[in-house]
Amino acid sequence: MNKPLNNKIFSLLSVLVLVTTLVLLVVVFNSVRTSITNNLDDRMELAKTVVFRELINRQNAVLQNSKVLLDDFAFKRSLAAKNSDDIENALASFRYTMDAAFIKVQSPKLNFSASSGDLAKLISSADETAAMNFTAQDGDFANLIVIDQKLVWVLWMPIKNNSGAITAYASLGFLVNERYVQSIKQIVGIDLTVLVNAEQFFTISTLRDEKADLAIIEKSLINNHRYSLFFMNPLKNESQLLSSKFSLPNLGDINPTVYLSIDSTQIQSNFMNLQLTISAVALFALLCAISAGRVLANQITRPIEYLAKYATNIANGKYSKGMELKATSKELSLLLNAFNTMESNVKNRESEIVHQAQHDMLTGLYNRNYVTKHIDSLLNSQTVFQAIGVNIQRFRSINDVFGYQYGDLCLIELANRISNLGGVSARLEGGEILWLPESPLSIDQIKQIKNDIQAPIQGDNVKIPLNVSLGIVNCPSDTKNAEDLYRRLNIVIDQAQIDKSMIVEFENVLEANYLRRLAIVQKLERAITAKSKDIYLHYQPKLNIKTGQYDSAEALVRWADKDLGQIAPDEFIAIVEQAGLINALTKHVLNLAVTDIVALKKQKIDICMAINISAQDIMHDGFLAFTSDLLQSKGLSPSVLSLELTESAIMKEPQKAIKQMALMREAGFSIAIDDFGTGYSSFEYITQLPVDMIKIDKCFVMPIAIKQGEQAVCQAILKVANSFNMKVVAEGIEDKEALDMLTKWGCDYGQGYHIARPLPLEHFSIWLAKHNTTKVIL
Ligand code: C2E
Ligand code: CA
Ligand code: CA
Repeated sequence: MNKPLNNKIFSLLSVLVLVTTLVLLVVVFNSVRTSITNNLDDRMELAKTVVFRELINRQNAVLQNSKVLLDDFAFKRSLAAKNSDDIENALASFRYTMDAAFIKVQSPKLNFSASSGDLAKLISSADETAAMNFTAQDGDFANLIVIDQKLVWVLWMPIKNNSGAITAYASLGFLVNERYVQSIKQIVGIDLTVLVNAEQFFTISTLRDEKADLAIIEKSLINNHRYSLFFMNPLKNESQLLSSKFSLPNLGDINPTVYLSIDSTQIQSNFMNLQLTISAVALFALLCAISAGRVLANQITRPIEYLAKYATNIANGKYSKGMELKATSKELSLLLNAFNTMESNVKNRESEIVHQAQHDMLTGLYNRNYVTKHIDSLLNSQTVFQAIGVNIQRFRSINDVFGYQYGDLCLIELANRISNLGGVSARLEGGEILWLPESPLSIDQIKQIKNDIQAPIQGDNVKIPLNVSLGIVNCPSDTKNAEDLYRRLNIVIDQAQIDKSMIVEFENVLEANYLRRLAIVQKLERAITAKSKDIYLHYQPKLNIKTGQYDSAEALVRWADKDLGQIAPDEFIAIVEQAGLINALTKHVLNLAVTDIVALKKQKIDICMAINISAQDIMHDGFLAFTSDLLQSKGLSPSVLSLELTESAIMKEPQKAIKQMALMREAGFSIAIDDFGTGYSSFEYITQLPVDMIKIDKCFVMPIAIKQGEQAVCQAILKVANSFNMKVVAEGIEDKEALDMLTKWGCDYGQGYHIARPLPLEHFSIWLAKHNTTKVIL
């Protein structure tokens, strides 16, 4: 886990300040300590100088005064006379004057000695001998000696006669006692302790009590504390003394040492105060620096934290109404601007992406994805609404005929027209738009809207006719979810495409039909592919009325599925045509029919077989070649086949159909127009159609005996056909009256239940054998 940045900055600053403060503290302490020790050293040095100076001064004074006495004539005379009383009196008076501990005059030569003061008698002879030898050579001589466990400063002087020869020695002793050291302390202001190494160590000190203890003094030597940071700390130095020492020059082995001691209490307390003040200042500075560090760290990190949160919000799609943070620096201001720009760019890009994700690029309507969610939410909330699928009829042909540019134009224009109606509209796929009106509409309203939105589209220099079919699904009654809705919408749109009104509202039966159609397509496709026996042909004989012979027949396909049962061709032909399977079925039928023709031929039955073909067959470029090849492979001539094409199949694409029909005729096939009279433009086109035969639709023929209108139609057709040299077949002859009428009017062929029902091959051939009295060779 990463530590927060402000903690890091804060810790770093704190450590820096702490280290700096400590270093400063050490440096300050150290320099103060150095200055104090230096100062002490100076004081000690001065004191030492004073001590020496005092000794010299004293020596000079004593010498001067002593000379007066020793050079005194009367004294010398008394000495020469060894007049002890006089000399002792003089010595005593001089000792008092000089405040000496003793004075002594002795002459080894004269074997004389006199003194004043008890100590004079206690001087060791070794000391005396050594001193006298010294004086004899070097003259006046001062030395420190121990007499009776007392330290005594003794000055030896030679006493010379008039001729200058040493006749005697005088010695003056002064006690170096506490009084004496106190007197020096008066001058130097520093305690003194003199250590003497006699038979027993002893000290003479201005210090009192336990402080005079040598061990304590030794411990308090400055040099012991010079480099100790805490040398001033009273805890470390119980005596509260600071001392230095030096030796006094001495002949002998008593090594007198002088300790100079200063009471350090004041220094210590001053230093302590300084120490405390510096520490307090340092602590205060530290606290200030730490607080400043905290503020600084926060100032740096707060904007970062704010911006991190800001960025997270942007990442989560929560956009702010503006930055609440004020820029306190140029860098921060740059950063805030960058974030603002980023936010608005992200926002724009997101809304662009959302728009793209929800909309169809071409029409600007919502796309399937968005409208699916919308529908699901409407269905979830049990909202009552209407879903209307708008499908451009033959949208592909618009693209084919006018080009994709115009196809797109139609779609865009239709989308505009629909979105202007309000509600929600979305493009589902191809030429299909889903419209959810604001409120459900009646069929009449929808009819009106259909008329409005399918107004022709004006291109640059073309006017494109537009036809739309509408499928209506009422929700939520008709569906429970969007997928279901789409499925049902497909069903109604499919239905609407073939419905006359081109508007179909969803009903359950439509779905049942749809499912049945679906099953038919699947099963039939499988049956065709497998060349299943479930698909077979029946043959309905045709009567050549002119000859009375049955020289032709119509092949009619039959399909019996094991699950669906027998299914009428009227039902499944339309379905397979829609499913695009009709070519395969026709080829299969042709194969079956040709096989049967060959079989019939073997029975010496030559017959012209009519085959029903659909619009898609004739438009299919390979169809003619396939049929020709098939016949050729069986050694049959094209004249054995008559191709029946419904009028409506031709009318889907008349130009192409006519061209293909002409090619087929050229190839030797005869062509008949099936269901003639049912299309509204039959008569207009008939003259242009390359056909040999017209089949009057059974709807006119069946009721002919009783309906005069139908009689007129049949007569009119016969007349027209006759004038164009076309043969006429009347299908659906169900009674003798009809046949008689048609015979009378000069109809060429008759077909219908009255003559014969469609029959399986075996029955058909038997039937033919029975009814064709004379064989007709075509
Ligand atoms: P269509 O070509 O008009 O065929 C004639 C239909 O009328 C046949 O129905 C026939 O059984 C029926 N029919 C014949 N005489 C009478 C009559 O006197 N009264 C009545 N009520 N009906 C009669 P089918 O076999 O059910 O065929 C229906 C339609 O299915 C055909 O009408 C044709 O359009 C189509 N069809 C049949 N077989 C094929 C085929 O192999 N290929 C194609 N493309 N369509 C086929
Ligand atoms: Ca037919
Ligand atoms: Ca027919």
